[in-house]
Amino acid sequence: MTFDPIVEEVRARVNLVELIAGHTDLKQAGRTWKGLCPFHKERSPSFTVDPAKGFYHCFGCGAGGDAFKFAMEIHGLSFPEALETLARRVGVELPERRGNTPRDRSRRRILLDVTRAAALFFRRALKEDPRAERAREYLTGRGFSLTEALGYGLGYAPDDWESLARHLTKEGLDLDAARTTGLIAERSRGGGHYDRFRDRLMFTILDAEGTAIGFGARALGDVEGPKYINSSDSEIFHKGRGVYGLSWALKTIREQGRAVVVEGYFDVLSLHQHGFTQAVATLGTALTPDHAYQLKRYAPEVVLLFDGDDAGRKAAWRALPHFLAADVRPRAAFLPSGEDPDTLVQKQGAPALQALLDAAPPLLEHVIASRARTAGADPRARGQAMRDLAPLLTALPDPVEQDATVALAARSFQVSEDSVRKMLAARPETTRAPESVAAVPEPSIAMPPAEEALVRVLVQQPGLAELLVGTELDRSMRAPIAARFVRAAAQDPAAGTNRWLADIDDPALLRLVTGSAVDATGAPEQGTRVVTDCIRRIQRDRLRDEVEALAREISQRESRGEISELGRLQQLKIEKNRLMLALGTARAG
Ligand SMILES: [Zn+2]
Repeated sequence: MTFDPIVEEVRARVNLVELIAGHTDLKQAGRTWKGLCPFHKERSPSFTVDPAKGFYHCFGCGAGGDAFKFAMEIHGLSFPEALETLARRVGVELPERRGNTPRDRSRRRILLDVTRAAALFFRRALKEDPRAERAREYLTGRGFSLTEALGYGLGYAPDDWESLARHLTKEGLDLDAARTTGLIAERSRGGGHYDRFRDRLMFTILDAEGTAIGFGARALGDVEGPKYINSSDSEIFHKGRGVYGLSWALKTIREQGRAVVVEGYFDVLSLHQHGFTQAVATLGTALTPDHAYQLKRYAPEVVLLFDGDDAGRKAAWRALPHFLAADVRPRAAFLPSGEDPDTLVQKQGAPALQALLDAAPPLLEHVIASRARTAGADPRARGQAMRDLAPLLTALPDPVEQDATVALAARSFQVSEDSVRKMLAARPETTRAPESVAAVPEPSIAMPPAEEALVRVLVQQPGLAELLVGTELDRSMRAPIAARFVRAAAQDPAAGTNRWLADIDDPALLRLVTGSAVDATGAPEQGTRVVTDCIRRIQRDRLRDEVEALAREISQRESRGEISELGRLQQLKIEKNRLMLALGTARAG
């Protein structure tokens, strides 16, 4: 995010404590407020809000940021959406913004209005329309009373070519918008529109905040074509990103630290009905990387509860690379064949389902074991199965975890770890990791202690940034992200932490900044000494790096017999060494 006066105005007006108090109880403790973290499950509060600095930070899970970050994380919003939400909350009118002009916003508004009107129309039809009789019977058959169904946002699209189009026209809504969302379509001849959803049971799809953004529609009679169809993709609805049931499930998902992903709309509803209120589903699509990243935002643990048949297992396996790329290790529970979540609970009770979820093994282990079992004793089949698993093994970013998983795979296939490693090493570089792994952000370069201490003290006492002016210290720093922060502080010392951070989108830096902001342990009177000390250490370390590099170059040239430049390089080395010693006693090296 780039510095923007409107963003700063919204930030200044938002009461951070009030905003966060809507999601967890906060108690004042001196300058800061403390409470249970809304982003991870914990018993004693490690979540701290510093209203004066405008940051929150959790010492348990490392979540942290400003008001915008909070709105983004808690509701799953993009930055422009969070800005819009908070601006509305504090009554700031947003001016025209690039990529989010009033026209875009009002267009979004129009699409949401037409979707909402349609949801109410489908709902009333399910409740009252005589043609909805079969839909109501169907729901009763699946164990839902009409009241329950309406409560879950279900509706009915009448068996009629233009009842919705007529209704929307009567309500004065934009038919163009209705066409964009896929509710109606233009007649190919004679003009006018016709309804796209006819004689279907309608599932209203809500975003994380509970706003209707689209529909899933299930055919009731014998229809030609697919049993389920969806709203069209638009500015408000993305089939491959949507998570059905998320707004209902968020609270439990946060409390339990676990999301349960099932395959269909009815599975979600049955589970919620039976008290498993952490259940969500995709919108009839395979799980995508978007889903994996979204779920990760809300819960550290994801359990897939899929059909035990071949299709269900394959669907779970296919989702695995996306989760690994998002650094999530999902577990997988498979329903006994022929059962869905509802019938399982009917027959064996809720504790049986709970036990199935609790005992779910890591999906990666499950996949390895299954592939080993299917390959059996045939050496060729085993080789092929192991090659199929290779992208999953190499997708694991942690070398220790990768090593342990290779060992597990070797045991399952009854081969030596060495041969598994040889196979992995022999794979061509280009196929080493699934494509989606590229989406994982590069880890930030570890920050040297002096650079970390400097960032910390600047956040706690922004006034000290004056000491950096003209030092060009950032050029001597090793961690690029810390260097950018320090450069911003040196260029505009009066701007303050939020603006120094404005162009830097780095989770590690944000964690350091928010952690320092809410941590009141730094002694203010020592700030100046800390800064000057950090500056000296950073410059000295830089000189030491340069001296070492020169020493290496000199010895290489000597061994190659290139003597022409040696004198100049020696002189340079002595000079830098002298500067380094002048900055204080150097540590070893
Ligand atoms: Zn936390």
